[in-house]
Amino acid sequence: MKARRPAPHLLAALCTALFATAGQAQAPSPTPAPAPQEFENCLNTLRAPARAVGVSEATFTQHTLGLAPDMSVIDKLNFQPEFRTAIWDYLAGLVDDQRVAEGQAMLALHAETLRRVQERFGVDPATVVAVWGVESNFGQTFGKSPLVQSLGTLSCFGRRQAYFRTEFYATLRILQAGHIAPNRLVGSWAGAFGHTQFMPSTFERLAVDFDGDGRADLMDSTPDALASTANFLAKAGWQSGQPWGFEVKLPPGFNASSEGRRTKRTMEDWVARGVKRVDGSPLPASGSAGLLTPAGPQGPAFLVLRNFDAIYSYNAAESYGLAIAHLSDRLRGGGPFVTPWPTDDPGLSRAERREVQTLLIARGHDIGEVDGMLGDKSRVAIRAEQARLGQEPSGRAGQKLLKALRGS
Ligand code: CA
Repeated sequence: MKARRPAPHLLAALCTALFATAGQAQAPSPTPAPAPQEFENCLNTLRAPARAVGVSEATFTQHTLGLAPDMSVIDKLNFQPEFRTAIWDYLAGLVDDQRVAEGQAMLALHAETLRRVQERFGVDPATVVAVWGVESNFGQTFGKSPLVQSLGTLSCFGRRQAYFRTEFYATLRILQAGHIAPNRLVGSWAGAFGHTQFMPSTFERLAVDFDGDGRADLMDSTPDALASTANFLAKAGWQSGQPWGFEVKLPPGFNASSEGRRTKRTMEDWVARGVKRVDGSPLPASGSAGLLTPAGPQGPAFLVLRNFDAIYSYNAAESYGLAIAHLSDRLRGGGPFVTPWPTDDPGLSRAERREVQTLLIARGHDIGEVDGMLGDKSRVAIRAEQARLGQEPSGRAGQKLLKALRGS
């Protein structure tokens, strides 16, 4: 989390492992419940500071009276991933055929709104819809934690209380201003909410009322949400009409070890060093770009321009930026990356993850419901099946496991 321009998600900043995703570690022991008065006493100490930042006494009382803490959010704050997710697994789940098809349907359904959003903010429809698809699966996954409760708890217990208090006060101001109904303000455990998964402070800086009802409603107004996403990118330096970047081919023996997103070089430099676009078209005549090789020099390589940085600022992870960027290309009709990932066991789409779960259940494993999320229970079952099938019992599901399960 950068102090001056916080990303809307806290989660990425809190996870030290770049590609860590929830559900990949054994659950830590639950945080014990505090003494009954402890939470109430803490909230009372927040009352006067809240007034100083524009939360009225009445608002504070209305939303905190009788509030109980939710200590499960402290467990999630303390969550340490067991191992890193490979980038090809991360992208296989986020940019799959289902999300491309649903995104293209959304482009058609909201074409007129997206046209007006582009006119006002300069961000093209495919990019806006790609962010929407990754952030909330086009408005289907918002999180279920009531924000006042989760951020109130995080303001009183655990690490980073000062940060969460700022978000707690912002939440109360959003309710006070009447943007969103109190019973609708639910989100991720860390407070990101709505179609765009903005943190409350991001909402206050960047949320837009685009349907003209006087409220910026990122829970229930698609026009407000799409416009707010475009506004975020515009304020993050989006350059209208420019690409995020593109996949490139590196010449044999190219040394990419000192390159990166922030190491911008002119297109002239890249041409001189033998870098070419994978489709054979010439690099742009002007401008500058950094080189990303997220799986090392043997995997796909990308020149990334200023607009990639704007996407990156949404969630401060290059893997995340690449997911949005690639999904936007796929929504425009582009294909998969030309250079394959350096693995003999590629990742699974969400449909394939559901198939793995169905096959695990058919073999008698208790993994809960088929949801496409390979959590702790699925991982235990995967290890058992890998051992049975003579594969390394890693707990990771890839194409090799899926094929073996289908045939067994
Ligand atoms: Ca509105």
